Amino acid sequence: MSSQKIGIVGSGLIGRAWTMLFAAAGYRVQLYDILESQLATALQELDKDLHRLEERGALRGNIRASEQFSLIGVTTRLEELTRDALHIQECVPEVLPLKQSLYSQLDELLEQQTVVASSTSTFMPSLYSEGLQKRQQMLVAHPLNPPYFIPLVEIVPAPWTSSGAVERTRDLMLSLGQRPVTLKREIQGFATNRIQYAILNEVWRLVGSGILSVADVDRVLSQGLGLRYALLGSLETAHLNAPGGVADYFQRFGGEISAVSATYGETPNTQEDRETLAEIARQCEQMVSLEKLDERRAIRDEFLIQLAKLKRQF
Ligand code: NAD
Repeated sequence: MSSQKIGIVGSGLIGRAWTMLFAAAGYRVQLYDILESQLATALQELDKDLHRLEERGALRGNIRASEQFSLIGVTTRLEELTRDALHIQECVPEVLPLKQSLYSQLDELLEQQTVVASSTSTFMPSLYSEGLQKRQQMLVAHPLNPPYFIPLVEIVPAPWTSSGAVERTRDLMLSLGQRPVTLKREIQGFATNRIQYAILNEVWRLVGSGILSVADVDRVLSQGLGLRYALLGSLETAHLNAPGGVADYFQRFGGEISAVSATYGETPNTQEDRETLAEIARQCEQMVSLEKLDERRAIRDEFLIQLAKLKRQF
């Protein structure tokens, strides 16, 4: 149990999720936002969410919801947020000039012991930290939504991020019960989106060329590969799928993998291929109409809670 201070910049969806994760591990959390009204709403939501999770037996950590809530404070002054902070998790909207301006302000205020991690889904850390004096204290720690139930965090250093900052962030994430991966260097899309986009590209081609319907192509993941991948990654899956392990797997199937890969064709242009997009949208809306998206999201999140519990036993 820790009483060190964590600062959260931005009290929207992701800022609130990080707040709950840090409070569950016993950290003191201070939330900063430009809007006082936004902070008031965030506190109300946090109080409600923590108690609801407790009622359902899904609260993380070893302390009660009310104690977790008492660890959370707010401020609209950035200089108050940075004071004595061990770690600052930045969660402002995904707008590069906004992040750049915030990081220049933080550069003036950061104390020596503080590491600032951005939750950004898309910006490599060099894009907002280049030229700053304290850039060695800045990196990306990218969560997946909802972070409370999906433990992966991608830690991405800029070329100048210190190895100490990377290691400490990794340890901090582990102390929350998250499961970090550390990229050795920054790359566009980090790891998750690179893999996710490779899947989306092939799914797009299969639907676009009329080989599979949307419902069937999604079933390939939801009723097939996804069940394995909920437990094991693609390499361990391969390792288990040949008598002599992964080396044997690639000896046996490497030729087929290369032959199939040579037939993929060009990367689809998902913005300009309007015909395929219209067809995908039509079929997706047959599966779930736009009015029912919220209902379907709620069902998914409900099952994700159960899955997260089950997965902790694996
Ligand atoms: P959001 O719009 O829900 O929240 C953003 C918050 O930042 C708001 O409370 C807003 O008032 C505040 N804000 C705006 N300007 C600010 C400033 N200058 N200083 C302080 N606060 C400011 O956004 P979100 O969905 O929580 O996303 C935040 C970050 O998390 C983004 O970088 C996004 O890419 C990343 N992320 C989002 C998701 C997701 O699924 N939403 C998943 C992973 C990562």
